[in-house]
Amino acid sequence: MERWEAIVVGAGAMGTSALAHLARRGVRALGVEQFSLNHAHGSSHGRTRLLRTVYAEGPQYVPWVLRARELWQALEAETHRELFRPTGILQLGGPSGDQLDRALASARRRRVPHARLTAAQVRERFPAFHPADGTRAVFDPGGGVLFPERCLAAHARVAEERGARWNFNERVRAWSADADGVTVETSRGDYRADQLVIAAGAWVGHLVPSLPFHPLVERQSVFWFEPRRNEMEFAPERMPGFTWDAGGGPDRYFYGTPDFGDGPKFAGFSGHPVASADRVPRTIARRERDGVVRFVRQRFPDAAGPIRSETTCLFTHTPDRDFVLDRLPGRARVVVASPCSGHGFKFASVIGEAIAELVVDGRTRLNRRPFSLARFRPRRARPGGPRRRPPRAT
Ligand SMILES: Cc1cc2nc3c(=O)[nH]c(=O)nc-3n(C[C@H](O)[C@H](O)[C@H](O)COP(=O)(O)OP(=O)(O)OC[C@H]3O[C@@H](n4cnc5c(N)ncnc54)[C@H](O)[C@@H]3O)c2cc1C
Repeated sequence: MERWEAIVVGAGAMGTSALAHLARRGVRALGVEQFSLNHAHGSSHGRTRLLRTVYAEGPQYVPWVLRARELWQALEAETHRELFRPTGILQLGGPSGDQLDRALASARRRRVPHARLTAAQVRERFPAFHPADGTRAVFDPGGGVLFPERCLAAHARVAEERGARWNFNERVRAWSADADGVTVETSRGDYRADQLVIAAGAWVGHLVPSLPFHPLVERQSVFWFEPRRNEMEFAPERMPGFTWDAGGGPDRYFYGTPDFGDGPKFAGFSGHPVASADRVPRTIARRERDGVVRFVRQRFPDAAGPIRSETTCLFTHTPDRDFVLDRLPGRARVVVASPCSGHGFKFASVIGEAIAELVVDGRTRLNRRPFSLARFRPRRARPGGPRRRPPRAT
């Protein structure tokens, strides 16, 4: 039976990065992926991802996102391919939306550069956007757009160049750990490893049934539009990536990216819970399309031509929407790095680095306590009641 120092399950955003960082650290590592690289069944496809540094999910994410951006830029220099476009990110919300207040509080606490804009200033500076008077906005000049397929390919290549091996189209069926190592059983055979990293995204519950929570998998849809007029407004030099809390609940939260050649991309957060990542209905209902079309007509009227293309993608949430990056309790040889909810992509570079630190050094430089599994254990009630579930954000 082949023996490896580490096996990584999954070649999505987290797995490709983990294998690259492990290989950089000199670890003899194998990556096992059930599909091909950059397949469209998981969470890491769709041409663009937002990288925000003004972080409403909490100031604890800021050191992680700053290190993540540094690592993406280093990977870009190493692989000579554009991975990140610093378009800035505009976050918009109504007069009383608390998402923007949290974003501002986090930026102030961590001294992240940002600028508050009125609706008139947004219309003047970014003519693609048509916010109503009273809309508040925060511009995040350090944010931008990542190109996910290129990011995965870059990490996968670095991993191979540093001596790691990928086994694609091979599914991990089961694993077991003992005092001497981990046995991984796949559709092609069995392997032994000193340590196992599970970066299985929406499939994490299949491989780790003992998780102390039920991962919620949701199918999302995204759309690329054909602008009707003034298409230069949607060029990345003139249109930042954005999130927009249009008020009225999670179904009225939208985001998008400028036109990188396929038309501007727009999407909402009206997700559909699915029972299993293996059985996801991929047909997009008219109702889902209509919600986004209405938003685009109202707030980006020049973009509201026909839909050029569309795709579906999976979000996998923890109950508090924060990540999991931890050793499995009672299984010290197993690291779980999923799920990363609906906002994980930007962090993949640093999560891969942190996984390699955990495997090699036994600890991470950045504080990963907010991502621990122990937070899901039953505790005494918090003073002031339970923590509110934060809104969705990408
Ligand atoms: C529509 C959409 C928009 C998003 N927008 C943003 C954004 O703007 N910014 C941001 O930061 N984040 C965003 N996210 C979230 C982000 O993309 C995800 O958090 C991230 O891609 C998750 O990566 P992953 O590696 O955990 O999962 P995946 O990419 O799904 O990778 C998991 C891999 O494991 C493999 N696997 C699973 N089980 C097995 C097995 N048994 N054997 C072998 N292989 C297995 C799967 O095939 C898969 O390739 C978005 C997500 C979606 C869906």
